[in-house]
Amino acid sequence: MSELHSTLRPGRLLIGGEWLSAQNGATRATVNPATEEKITDVADGGEADVELAVQAARKAFDSGPWTQKMTAADRGRALYKLAQLIAGPHRDELAELETLDCGKPISETKNIDIPMVAEMFEYFAGWSTKIHGDTIPPRGNAFTYTLREPIGVIGVIVPWNFPALMASWKIAAALAAGNTIILKPAELTPLTALRIGGLALEAGIPPGVLNVITGKGTVIGRPLVRHAGVDKISFTGSTPVGQEIMREAAGTVKRLTLELGGKSPNVVFADADLEAAVRGAATGIFYNKGEVCAAGSRLFIEESVRDEFLEKLKGRAEALKYGDPFDPKTRLGPQISAGQRDSILGYVAKGRSEGASVMTGGEAPSGKGYFVKPTILAGNNDMTVAREEIFGPVVVAIPFGSFEDAVRLSNTTAFGLASGVWTRDVKKAHRYARQVKAGTVWVNTYNMYDPSVPFGGFKASGFGRELGAEAVHNYTETKSVWIDLN
Ligand code: NAD
Repeated sequence: MSELHSTLRPGRLLIGGEWLSAQNGATRATVNPATEEKITDVADGGEADVELAVQAARKAFDSGPWTQKMTAADRGRALYKLAQLIAGPHRDELAELETLDCGKPISETKNIDIPMVAEMFEYFAGWSTKIHGDTIPPRGNAFTYTLREPIGVIGVIVPWNFPALMASWKIAAALAAGNTIILKPAELTPLTALRIGGLALEAGIPPGVLNVITGKGTVIGRPLVRHAGVDKISFTGSTPVGQEIMREAAGTVKRLTLELGGKSPNVVFADADLEAAVRGAATGIFYNKGEVCAAGSRLFIEESVRDEFLEKLKGRAEALKYGDPFDPKTRLGPQISAGQRDSILGYVAKGRSEGASVMTGGEAPSGKGYFVKPTILAGNNDMTVAREEIFGPVVVAIPFGSFEDAVRLSNTTAFGLASGVWTRDVKKAHRYARQVKAGTVWVNTYNMYDPSVPFGGFKASGFGRELGAEAVHNYTETKSVWIDLN
């Protein structure tokens, strides 16, 4: 691990291309959730560091080479170089850092998270040279065209469940559009963000274009949101913090992209391929220990197949190997923190008190690490466990009678991030896809993502879309130019 530390500069912030200590000299420990031991100390930034980072990002945007000298092709090449560094020489190092810091199994960080981070930079690198406006025929004798310009300085605030991946969704698209960035990772998982900041410099992204500051959300996140020198906040996290950010951003009429919580329905019709649906229901909730914004946490099963389906799902849940995330066979790591584990167990207790029955799991195994056993609750859609986001490996199984019931129950939620539907009837699948109020619908699959396919929420799950062309457009301003031809 000492080798990892020497490349990382963990006690420092990356501001204007320099590795600086926090102005007040403060540091805080980041902890391995599988062992409960300290990994290292990171800078615990304050408002003075936010000020420095905004100055650096502003300077890089207003007068630096990124916008003044480099062409769109140059920017694309630098992003592509970063993709290559991440996918090639630094893949294992980043995967190990991510596994250490957030407890994800190494099989996932090596084969899914970090390769996907590289793919993000590769995909959006291609976009750099393809961002352009339109010519529009107006009435009268005039010529009009639009320009798509970068917005400016973007504050990127991300959560701890996919630390590198969530950051890359935002950074790659925003940089492709020519913006500069202040990245604030979650306080529990700062390590890969710092390392990617260092690699960006190596890839030729000029100093000040990607700044990384670490510290508490209320201490450095809030001033970032309030700062008049920041033009947009792109946030992924919980709905209550997203609501606060909306209120705070009003003061400067800041642009916002908000990717918030979810309570996604996963609907299994009796005519589905049940084996595939059981696998999909299990990945839908147990992947990444349920710390997934789009987790299929409400599982609706058509009554006629309910018992058979749940028996099979229970078998899969009990067979999932949890434990040391560095063991390549481990499929389920620890929750991110003791607080998160206790919150999950609190929800299970609340479920019990409201009449849900625990079909399997519902407890923490003994020993070190913040583990929670994969849990299936049999309940109904009105229970707290079916209304609030638990963010852990806990699914609530709810029976339904008809297609209309399935749609009504799916939509009876404050959220609208994602949904799944399992059926062999193509018409039923399309009808469900049209009627469900969610930003993503997976048919006979779950948890599929691609850099080119938009992702984001309806209702309390947020607004603005990440990934694909929509993401690029969300990091640009449109300017209309009129020329009088009379
Ligand atoms: P969180 O909202 O507590 O924190 C997210 C980030 O915001 C962290 O970096 C935190 O430091 C920062 N923050 C906290 N308070 C702040 C404030 N007042 N001002 C500015 N920044 C502040 O979320 P979390 O617990 O880290 O992550 C879990 C949540 O993220 C879940 O609700 C989950 O659904 C959501 N999430 C959503 C998506 C999506 O794409 N919709 C993806 C992943 C996670």
